[in-house]
Amino acid sequence: MPQQFLEFQQQVEAVKTRYLTGEISEIERNDFIRQMNYHDTAWDDVWMLSPKGEWFRKATGSKVWIRDYPIALIDPDTLPPITEMNAHQVARVVHDCTRCGLHEGRKRAVPGEGPVPADIMLIGEGPGATEDQQARPFVGASGKFLDELLAQAGYKRAEVFIGNVVKCRPPNNRDPQPDELAACKEYLDRQVELVQPKVIVTLGRFSMYRYFPGASITKIHGQSKRVGDTLIVPMFHPAAALRNPAWRALLIEDFQKLPALVKEATSFRQPEPPAVNTT
Ligand code: SF4
Repeated sequence: MPQQFLEFQQQVEAVKTRYLTGEISEIERNDFIRQMNYHDTAWDDVWMLSPKGEWFRKATGSKVWIRDYPIALIDPDTLPPITEMNAHQVARVVHDCTRCGLHEGRKRAVPGEGPVPADIMLIGEGPGATEDQQARPFVGASGKFLDELLAQAGYKRAEVFIGNVVKCRPPNNRDPQPDELAACKEYLDRQVELVQPKVIVTLGRFSMYRYFPGASITKIHGQSKRVGDTLIVPMFHPAAALRNPAWRALLIEDFQKLPALVKEATSFRQPEPPAVNTT
């Protein structure tokens, strides 16, 4: 598997060399590279490597290219401790993780996706059936709704980091259990450190409990709390809001607050103006 990725990478590099030596134009280079895909038959994913060296993945059953990184290219024997990992390395260990029983029923672990760092981080509960198949968070009906909520608030999905409190699908979409949440926590903790979000949106009860233990989502949704230099704002889970028209309206309303919350949290990180000596 790594060998096939490496060979594909070399083929793309060969095209880039043809451009650098003047054999082909920039337009021809980009056209060639755009047409070059690697089909990872193990997962039925398709990979593309941009002229800038960025990897994109089209997941099983999806038409969307997302920025991703082939974990096959990361040697599991050279990984640092989780607290020192980068986002790709976290995805690598999550892929093979057996820390809790959820690994037994998963097709694929879902580490999370998005830019690092990012202004906004969304934290959901756990993967559902489509997520488990595509190794992507929030796809299917709730993912489509989430994309709409973001768009209405003025954001693209590619601008935010999306993760979950557990990275593997609970059987029949049951609630994650305390031991599973505890086992998976270290991965999410590291992702939050890496993403350095100005605003964290918790979607649903279990991610809300991370910051608001024992709270009621119907009472505190949309109300932000400052933790360090980050604002945490609990919201209804999109899947629950799709089933409840009243919650749906409240979730749309809460998402509209995001630009103002990002602005407010940005002010926490502004350097203090120099003190003026008035004496
Ligand atoms: S849910 Fe988290 S802790 Fe459990 S197996 Fe998956 S990645 Fe590991």
